[in-house]
Amino acid sequence: MKPAAFDYVRADSAEAACELLARHGEQARILAGGQSLMAVLNMRLAQPEMLIDISRSVSLARIEIRDGYLQVGASATQAELEWREGLARELPLLQLAFPHISHFQIRNRGTVCGSIAHADPSAELPLCLLALKGSVVLRRGTRQRLLPADQFFTGMLSTARAPDELLEAVRFPLARPGQGFGFREFSRRHGDFAVCAVAAIADAQGLRVAVGGVADRPMVREWPLLEGSALDDALNEFAWALDARDDPQISAASRRHLVRRLGRQAVAEALQARNSK
Ligand SMILES: Cc1cc2nc3c(=O)[nH]c(=O)nc-3n(C[C@H](O)[C@H](O)[C@H](O)COP(=O)(O)OP(=O)(O)OC[C@H]3O[C@@H](n4cnc5c(N)ncnc54)[C@H](O)[C@@H]3O)c2cc1C
Repeated sequence: MKPAAFDYVRADSAEAACELLARHGEQARILAGGQSLMAVLNMRLAQPEMLIDISRSVSLARIEIRDGYLQVGASATQAELEWREGLARELPLLQLAFPHISHFQIRNRGTVCGSIAHADPSAELPLCLLALKGSVVLRRGTRQRLLPADQFFTGMLSTARAPDELLEAVRFPLARPGQGFGFREFSRRHGDFAVCAVAAIADAQGLRVAVGGVADRPMVREWPLLEGSALDDALNEFAWALDARDDPQISAASRRHLVRRLGRQAVAEALQARNSK
């Protein structure tokens, strides 16, 4: 199918994009890497009157370390972050997750912020942002608001972003000494969206475990340092709380099994990484 007709405008700055969003509101959509949006348009699941292309904005492509976090601008691609020198030290969780995100051709065009804005419950970057207690920078006109990831994702492909707001950047807190990270995913084929993905962070205080692909958005739990059957029980409770549904791909029971199994593996990986430092 082909998309319905739309106007196309290129915006080279956050200011220009916000001005257009203010003028056109719900009739306009930001075009970042186009890797999800073009499929949505082709299937006519959305018929915006205007696309605001930010993909060539240099000012929005910055990736920079600030006060304890890495800020990734709206037009920075997934590949640019993936191949950043020092990523393994700064954000080991992302380094573990990137190979699971589709194929490199998609990561070359797809943006980090586009994935977060799209909010697919099976996507890896929203899962990592939530696991790391990251946040998003939303901009309307000249005003910015900062929202933690757990308040940003509100459901299946839905977020707290208003139609006239630009997701200007996302902030990933940098790894701290004493933290260990683990990531596990099951998908039908390499590069497919996750049937279930688990991110785990261990430190001296405890565990933080996030699960994607099961509920309508990524979900997270925090526990003290659990082991053995106590960890199994906690993961089992989490698996049931995610309210998995049967679908043509996999049964709800199998998804719960994956949460328990991948959860144990991701936690073991995080503990091992923490202990080896
Ligand atoms: C074959 C294929 C396989 C894929 N597999 C995976 C996978 O395994 N895991 C995974 O996580 N992803 C996967 N993806 C999705 C890919 O990561 C996309 O690039 C990403 O989800 C969207 O990023 P984008 O820059 O392409 O956004 P676009 O497609 O341009 O935009 C997506 C949505 O977000 C909005 N948007 C984008 N940027 C902003 C912004 N700055 N402010 C406000 N709104 C914005 C758009 O208006 C649109 O509604 C796959 C895609 C394809 C085509």
